[in-house]
Amino acid sequence: MTISYDKVREVASNLRFPTQAFINGQLCSAGDGDTFETANPATGEVLCKVAHCKAADVDKAVIAARRSFNDGQWSRAEPEHRKEVLLNLSRLIRENAFELAVLESLDSGKTITDCLREIGTDVANFFQWYGELVDKSFGKVAPTGDSALALIVKEPAGVVGLVLPWNFPLLMAAWKLAPALAAGCSCIVKPAEQTPLSAIRLGELAQQAGLPDGVLNILPGLGETTGQAIGRHNDIDIISFTGSTEVGGLFLRYAGESNLKVVGLEMGGKSPFIVLDDADLNDDLIEHAAASAFWNAGQNCSANMRQLVDARIADEFAERVAARARKYKVGDPLDPSTDIGAMVTRQHMDRVTGYIERGEAEGARRLTGGARSGKGCFIEPTVFSGLTPEMTISRDEIFGPVLGVIPVKGIDDALRIAVDTVYGLHATVFTRDVDRALYLARRLPCGTVSVNGFSEGDIKTPFGGYKQSGSLSRDNGTEAMDQYLQTKTIWVTLRDAV
Ligand code: NAD
Repeated sequence: MTISYDKVREVASNLRFPTQAFINGQLCSAGDGDTFETANPATGEVLCKVAHCKAADVDKAVIAARRSFNDGQWSRAEPEHRKEVLLNLSRLIRENAFELAVLESLDSGKTITDCLREIGTDVANFFQWYGELVDKSFGKVAPTGDSALALIVKEPAGVVGLVLPWNFPLLMAAWKLAPALAAGCSCIVKPAEQTPLSAIRLGELAQQAGLPDGVLNILPGLGETTGQAIGRHNDIDIISFTGSTEVGGLFLRYAGESNLKVVGLEMGGKSPFIVLDDADLNDDLIEHAAASAFWNAGQNCSANMRQLVDARIADEFAERVAARARKYKVGDPLDPSTDIGAMVTRQHMDRVTGYIERGEAEGARRLTGGARSGKGCFIEPTVFSGLTPEMTISRDEIFGPVLGVIPVKGIDDALRIAVDTVYGLHATVFTRDVDRALYLARRLPCGTVSVNGFSEGDIKTPFGGYKQSGSLSRDNGTEAMDQYLQTKTIWVTLRDAV
């Protein structure tokens, strides 16, 4: 879809901000009337005040979700019905994609181009793909003798809490919600406090699509209040969380101190981008290197910030990536020609800027980039060369547009440095030698390895992390459904009929 800056501004100026919670099919204020502000990080302007849900609101939503789960209208509905509703929702998202994208761009600082692609294509596709999976998922029959029939069936797991980050607000909602709804679960969604608006609007669209009341509840609020109340609720069966490793750990503690709910975690990363000495240092490789670190202003869990490049080509590589980085247009997220929008909040921008200063103080060489002055939260794409593996910026997740080149001495040195991290989400490998590519791909302890191109895979491929990047659960692919399904064995003893 081609879009004009004027059209985007016109939609932005006429936008209605959804400010309430969505519980049991109703838009409502928080029980105690409390609100919090959500702001546009590109201008600093407060957009609106949003309901701040507390434990009592979480309780109300869980009661509605449990009732809807038990009455079976959704959890035991015909697969064709669940499919139809999810396909309706997919269509409604496509029809409302422009409005949703402008809303999300204003709320998050993400570029309108990215928001429109993510929502109009990816988010809509998620509901379509999982909708279509509902009536194509089969159970199993175990091999037994004549004396028994053993059925292995999947059942919806119950009430699930989906706790979301701010970097891909509606996309992360879709990653979790589409398979959870397809599985037949009832859901409590908590969007991040920085970006609550598009998720609330999704609740309204889901109701329009035919989702029964109580099956989807959207609870905006802060982490320590709303998030914690969800984590500690005794009638939530499963949590699927995406966010920082620190808060992921809290959800494990909440589960241990409440009802031992199952917790699925997708968390931080510090992913390597490995360039071996035989790789073609062409424009395509440089484009992938830059995109892997600067996509979504680097606010991406799989950002390949650590670029481990053979020492023989590291200097040339760093200069070329820096030259590419200077060409990105940083600015108003609503302008369709902008490549890199605003950082999500002033506080987050200061954190990223702190890392840039730390990198210089520890002796890395800044080739380009840095913070921008002014009201908005903008950081120019920043490239460092000459990083050592011990430096803070080589170890911590920065979550901003910062790329660092670490020279390495051959394939095993690259592997040694790549695995020296608490994270294990993603890695990219560039080489012309398929044996060397697979040597690394099999040894890198991470959920996704992409070869000769930066990619997270797509809707069909599972996504998640090893080590402190994740739990065994996976988003995406048919594997995502497993997070929201229980497995039951039905063992039928057979007797001779005659
Ligand atoms: P965050 O952990 O601060 O917040 C995530 C969610 O948890 C938010 O909804 C927040 O309100 C809630 N939360 C915060 N404190 C809480 C508490 N004390 N109790 C309960 N809930 C709480 O993360 P973020 O800053 O929103 O997102 C950035 C992080 O997410 C990065 O570390 C990034 O790597 C990670 N991420 C991972 C993936 C993945 O798939 N692995 C995808 C996107 C983002």
